[in-house]
Amino acid sequence: MAPKKKRAANSSRPVSVVTGAAGFLGSHLTDLLLARGHRVIGIDNFVTGSVRNIDHLGGNANFKFIQQDVTEFIFLHDAVDFVWHFASPASPIDYLEIPIQTLKVGSLGTHKALGLAKNKGARFLIASTSEIYGDPLVHPQTEEYWGNVSTIGPRGCYDESKRFAEALTMAYHREHKIATRIVRIFNTYGPRMRVNDGRVVPAFISQALKNKPITVFGDGKQTRSFCYYADLIEGIYRLMMSDYNLPVNIGNPCEMTMLQFAEEIIKATGSKSRIVHRPLPQDDPKQRKPDIAKAKALLKWEPQVPLAQGLVKTIEYFRGKV
Ligand code: UDP
Repeated sequence: MAPKKKRAANSSRPVSVVTGAAGFLGSHLTDLLLARGHRVIGIDNFVTGSVRNIDHLGGNANFKFIQQDVTEFIFLHDAVDFVWHFASPASPIDYLEIPIQTLKVGSLGTHKALGLAKNKGARFLIASTSEIYGDPLVHPQTEEYWGNVSTIGPRGCYDESKRFAEALTMAYHREHKIATRIVRIFNTYGPRMRVNDGRVVPAFISQALKNKPITVFGDGKQTRSFCYYADLIEGIYRLMMSDYNLPVNIGNPCEMTMLQFAEEIIKATGSKSRIVHRPLPQDDPKQRKPDIAKAKALLKWEPQVPLAQGLVKTIEYFRGKV
């Protein structure tokens, strides 16, 4: 029998499995891996992903797509070098609509993806999140902070499944000795976000493009820090290729209030929209900003794309969609 790690005889390319390959980040990761010479096996069940995000890969001999729910057993003949587990809903609206699927993909899906990595002798990376810090009492958030999460609130299904996913990843690392990586992703934006996913970037941009009121939740003083997808994916790639197995924050530390963000969007789109206030959703974190000292030191990474520049590309994308 061939050793597990051996690659296909006709290929010197590393093989990557990307779960959630038709999603916003999964599809951009897939593009980057293909550009860096990987063969990619993408898996998605299109619950929140879209075939349009991977349309352009049709006919690419180095891309294979499997339509599957990753909470089911993942069976692959192929040798695999890297497993990138990106499948998950990622919007608070999705958590309200499909809380059980959100919990299942973070828990059972992570279990299946780790099982695949173990079986193939592959390196594994889990797409974790700043949400594991909950409504943080430490600011900016360092990787050492354990978080302030409500288990039973509307976001608990996402936060707790990702916390479980981190715990399971460390357990596989310790017990089965597999090489694992944990990235904590902060708010990210860019082309291929779903127009109606309810998150602040698609919401504000589509409202502004239609000259409709911009819906700022609460008083708008809550903060977020937005990272352009290309910066984020580069940081995540470097983390996978590093030898560091503890969590690393990847995000842009440029923090702003949601009111400031609404004004940025109005300016960038040249919109006539005015700002209106809507009730603040339950458990909405009051402030969020990554401490990226670890990523800087370990990965020699920091964001390169300023918000104004990233917004131009993102708005261009949304213009064709709204
Ligand atoms: N938000 C808003 N208006 C919207 C959508 C979101 O003011 O139409 C706020 C939301 O309350 C939160 C921030 O924008 O404080 C970011 O929300 P998002 O859903 O993008 O993601 P989160 O960072 O909360 O997971």
